[in-house]
Amino acid sequence: MSRFFSEKYAFLTPYTPGEQPQNRKYVKLNTNENPFPPSEKAVRCACEEAKRLELYSDPECRGLTDALAEMLGVEKNEVLLTNGSDEILNFAFMAYCDDQHTAAFPDITYGFYPVFAEINRIPYTEIPLREDFTIDIRDYFGIQKTIFLANPNAPTGISLTKSDIEQILKENPDNIVVIDEAYVDFGSESCVGLIHSYDNLLVTQTFSKSRSMAGARLGFGVGNASLISDLNAIKYSTNPYNINRMTMAAGIGVLADEEYTQANCRTIMDNRAYTFRELEKLGFECLDSQANFIFAKHPAISGQKLYEQLKERGVLIRHFSKERIRDYNRITIGSMEQMQILINTLKEIL
Ligand code: PMP
Repeated sequence: MSRFFSEKYAFLTPYTPGEQPQNRKYVKLNTNENPFPPSEKAVRCACEEAKRLELYSDPECRGLTDALAEMLGVEKNEVLLTNGSDEILNFAFMAYCDDQHTAAFPDITYGFYPVFAEINRIPYTEIPLREDFTIDIRDYFGIQKTIFLANPNAPTGISLTKSDIEQILKENPDNIVVIDEAYVDFGSESCVGLIHSYDNLLVTQTFSKSRSMAGARLGFGVGNASLISDLNAIKYSTNPYNINRMTMAAGIGVLADEEYTQANCRTIMDNRAYTFRELEKLGFECLDSQANFIFAKHPAISGQKLYEQLKERGVLIRHFSKERIRDYNRITIGSMEQMQILINTLKEIL
C-alpha cells in the first residue's frame, strides 16, 4: 500500500477471483464459465462492431435493451444493462443500503457481497444457512434490512422456489430484496415475472454463464421503472458508457440465437446429472445443485488436498478456505469430455 492510499479504503479485503492461469492449459472447472464457445452470431456482431471503436458506445444501450426487454416480457424502462452482474449488484448496494437499511445475506454465499458492503461502508449481517446448507426463509421475515440472495445460491447450487421468495418479498414490504439469478438458466425458477407485483424486488442476471460471454462482461437488473431509474442515477454518476460497443453487439447477437443458449444449458444439465452420479459412486457427498457447478466433499481427503492433487494433474476446481466449507470443493460443469477427465483423474487420486 502506498503512503498516498486513502484511509477510506485501507481496511478493504478485496474479492479474490478464481484463478485464470496463463501458463498451462488446464481442464478449467474453477470459475463457472460455460465450456461451449460464444454464439457465432454474437462473435460476428462483435467483430463487425469493432470497426466502429473510435466512437463511444450508446449510453442508453438501446438495441440491446429493446431485445432484452422483449425476451424477458418487460418494458424497456424496467431493465438496466451493466458491466457484468457484479456492477448491478454494486449499484444495488450503493442505491439501497445505508446505516438505516443495512445489508443481509447468508453466511455462505457469493463472496463479493461482503466486499460490496465494505467498499460502500455498509454494515451487514451474515445469516447462517441451516446445517444442510439450505436457507430458512423465516430467517428473512421482517428483518428491516436490504436482502441479497443468490438463487440458486453459490457455491452450494441449492435454490429456493419462486413461492419461497414471494414470501420473503411479502414479509419485507419496506425493504429491497435483490435476487441474484446468475445461475437461473440451469434449472431453477426465475422471479422476473414478479417485478410487477412487488415494488421491492430487483432481479439480477448475467450473460456470463448460460450465454458463454464471461469475457464480454455483460449483466443486467430487472425491476419496476422507479428502481431502474435509481440505478441509472448511480450508473450516470460513475460510468455512463459501462457497456462497450463490442459487448453490446455480442449481446444482441446472442439474444438472436436463443436456441443455441438453450441447447447448451440442456447439455450442461445432463452433464451435471452424469457428474453427480459418478461423484456419488466414488463416495463424494454432493449438494443438490440447480446451477452449472456441484459442491462436493469426500470423507477420505480434505478439500484443500483434493484441489491441489487435481491441479497437479491439470484439472482446476475451486476451493474456499472459509471454515464452514473448507471440506468442500466447487466443481464447474463442463463438456462431457471434461467431466470424464475429471472423474478419471479423481479415480487415480482416490
Ligand atoms: N452472482 C453470483 C452468485 C456469481 O457467482 C457471479 C460470478 N462470479 C456473479 C454474480 C457475477 O458474475 P458476472 O459479473 O460475470 O455477471
